[in-house]
Amino acid sequence: NLSEKLDKALHVLKGHGQITEINVAETTKEVRRALLDADVNFKIAKEFTNRVKEKALGQDVLTTLQPGQLMVKIVKDELTQLMGGESEGINLSGNPSVILMSGLQGSGKTTFSGKLANFLKSKKSKNPLLVACDVYRPAAIDQLHVVGEQIGVPVYSDRENTDPVAIAKAGIAKAKSDGHNVVIIDTAGRLAVDERMMTEISDIHKAIDPQETLFVVDAMTGQDAVNTAKAFNDILNFDGVILTKLDGDTRGGAAISIKSVVDKPIKFIGTGEKMEAIDIFYPSRMADRILGMGDVISLVERAQEQFDEEEARKIQKKIAKNKFGFDDFLSQIQQIKKMGNMKDLMGMIPGAGKALKGLDIDDDAFKHIEAIIYSMTPDERSNPSKLNANRKKRIAKGSGRDVKDVNQLLKQFDQMSKMMKMMQGGGGKKMMQMMQN
Ligand code: GDP
Ligand code: MG
Repeated sequence: NLSEKLDKALHVLKGHGQITEINVAETTKEVRRALLDADVNFKIAKEFTNRVKEKALGQDVLTTLQPGQLMVKIVKDELTQLMGGESEGINLSGNPSVILMSGLQGSGKTTFSGKLANFLKSKKSKNPLLVACDVYRPAAIDQLHVVGEQIGVPVYSDRENTDPVAIAKAGIAKAKSDGHNVVIIDTAGRLAVDERMMTEISDIHKAIDPQETLFVVDAMTGQDAVNTAKAFNDILNFDGVILTKLDGDTRGGAAISIKSVVDKPIKFIGTGEKMEAIDIFYPSRMADRILGMGDVISLVERAQEQFDEEEARKIQKKIAKNKFGFDDFLSQIQQIKKMGNMKDLMGMIPGAGKALKGLDIDDDAFKHIEAIIYSMTPDERSNPSKLNANRKKRIAKGSGRDVKDVNQLLKQFDQMSKMMKMMQGGGGKKMMQMMQN
């Protein structure tokens, strides 16, 4: 799974592990894979990761104190820039402002027309009129009427008329006479790009000269979305893109590819079938989503704030020398506890959401472990290999646990020391994972 892969790649950098040029290369490779998984075009993904690599090496990621943080930031910033940096609104300067929808059949034009009308009405105090220009299917007109009723926005349609250009013009005239300051024109799309659809939308576009022409595209169509966007842009030179069906697991890599190919801002996203499922497009949020980073950045920041660097370095040395003992284990637990509520922390780790389900993690989970460790002598803590059956029995008694629990802790400790050695002292996440096994 995508987020896990990327997480793995970033993980090397997240802790205090050594960062080498190889790590950077390894990380960018994973980022590239993540982008490809998210349906970003291959060439774009490659260019992107090359840029990230250059930036990373140029900024001395290798020598900085917190390379993981810097690396995450570089990846995210670049991705955000690639998608336009800031979010862009729509042009509402006309009176009325005419907004034309374009896109394939099923892309979500009619649904989005309603969502946008609702958004402008409630958030911008506009008074919109919807116009039904899909003359091929009676059901299409009905659909827009249903939508209009739901949100309390009037719909102009003319079932006798089969000329979408004439309907669009009549709709705008109606808006003027009825005092609407926004007109949203819903059009017919076809299942694939063809001449007839292109001619029709182009004719409407020329005839009404809208303030804003929006291209609506289904984010789930991945690479195809890019070709469609290009075809529509060649004809309409549209002003913005609407990415629909970004609910569920859709990664939204199409956002990057489309933006790169047509160089037009993505303005809104659709995240469901309901009228409220509309969001302004924020490049930085989409960057997070595409990378599947969850809230890695804030996790990294928090971890870095809380982990005592000095302490971490000491522990790292001990691991390197095979001197990692239960006292160090205790101090790691304390560090993790300082970071905050376990559930919150776990929730910030991409891919952990599922693992969390059904698990009861709370800070008490550490209580038993601590009790067992406190019942060991200092010598036993430093040299866990000394723990024979008798000693284990004594410790179990002292801590009010079973010998079974002591054994389990020893096993976990053993696994963890091995793992930590592998990661050269890297962050607490793996440790938390181990504690649940
Ligand atoms: P049109 O042919 O371009 O007008 O597309 P429609 O607006 O009729 O939408 C086609 C289908 O996609 C309908 O079943 C909509 O309910 C659905 N749909 C539209 N936008 C979204 C969205 O953002 N999320 C989801 N899950 N479904 C959507
Ligand atoms: Mg429609």
